[in-house]
Formats: sequence, structure tokens, C-alpha cells
Amino acid sequence: MEKEIKSIIQQIGEDSSREGLLKTPARVKRAWKEIAAGYEMDPDAIIQGALFEAEGKEMIIVNDIDFYSTCEHHMLPFFGKAYIAYIPGTKIVGLSKLARVVEAFARRLQVQERMTAQIADCLQKNLEAEGVAVVLRAQHLCMMMRGVQKQNSYAVTSEMLGAFKNNSKTRSEFLTLMRD
Ligand SMILES: [Zn+2]
Repeated sequence: MEKEIKSIIQQIGEDSSREGLLKTPARVKRAWKEIAAGYEMDPDAIIQGALFEAEGKEMIIVNDIDFYSTCEHHMLPFFGKAYIAYIPGTKIVGLSKLARVVEAFARRLQVQERMTAQIADCLQKNLEAEGVAVVLRAQHLCMMMRGVQKQNSYAVTSEMLGAFKNNSKTRSEFLTLMRD
């Protein structure tokens, strides 16, 4: 990978032998190990390892989960916050695991729409929940840094499953609580 990164540095018009750039290929390679660490994470196992018996059917919401991902069209970052809710079936999961599932899907080459659906499907499947809702709100550097120049626009995507899809009262309860 270092060879290819050195080649990219040269092709964009830089001098790859300049002192500040000498160790850049090695640093970029190390950075990508973290940026793409999701490929080695198993989101199903993260949930399965922290399941508990549910004691009620109340909506569980976790707001403002920070995430950093990479758009697969330009290999530039998109980042923002995830809002997740579910209504338990028979099981609940440790709250910190929701952030880890987001991370497992974020640290890959992604499109925001697919990442939203993947998080929701993973929770629905492993929790056998009565409903799952996932909203992602993100800024995309490929839009902000390039010609489009939509500096302060956010892309918002949502996936509603089960009760959140079928029951408008449940859905609006979530949408109200996620704004607080
Ligand atoms: Zn892009």
C-alpha cells in the first residue's frame, strides 16, 4: 500500500521525497487500518454477546452517537450522528453496544443509505425487536470540499422497521424524542 500512496502523492503533483512527506505513506497505511477496521468487526457478535431479558415494552432510544465513515464513491469522509431506537421483543442489549454496531458499519467504504439500513437490519435480526428506527445525520466532505460547495448541508437518512414503520404514533414519538 505504501508504494501506491507514494505514487498518488506524485500524481497529484507533489514531491514525494520532500521531508514532510517521507513517512506519509506509512502513516496513511496505519490510518487506513483504523478507518477500515469495520471489516474485521462482527456486528452480529457484538449484539449477541450482550443480550439480556427484557422487562418491558418501552421504547429505548440512544441519541447523538458520533460516527466517522468513508464514502465509497470518493473515498472521502462523511461523519455525523446516529439516532437509534427500538422496542424490545423478549431481549434488550447493553446500550454501549449500539455505538459499537454503528462503528462496525461506519468503518468501511460506505454509502449513508446502506449504512442506515444495515444498522437497522442488524438490530432487528439479533434483538427480534418489535420495531427498530435508525436516523443518520451526516456531512459529506466529498460535497463540502469539491465543486458542489454545499457547506452546511446535512444528509439525513432513516430506516424504520416494524412498529416504527406501521404505527405513526410510535414513529412520531421517536422523532420527537430524538430532537430533544
Ligand atoms: Zn462521495
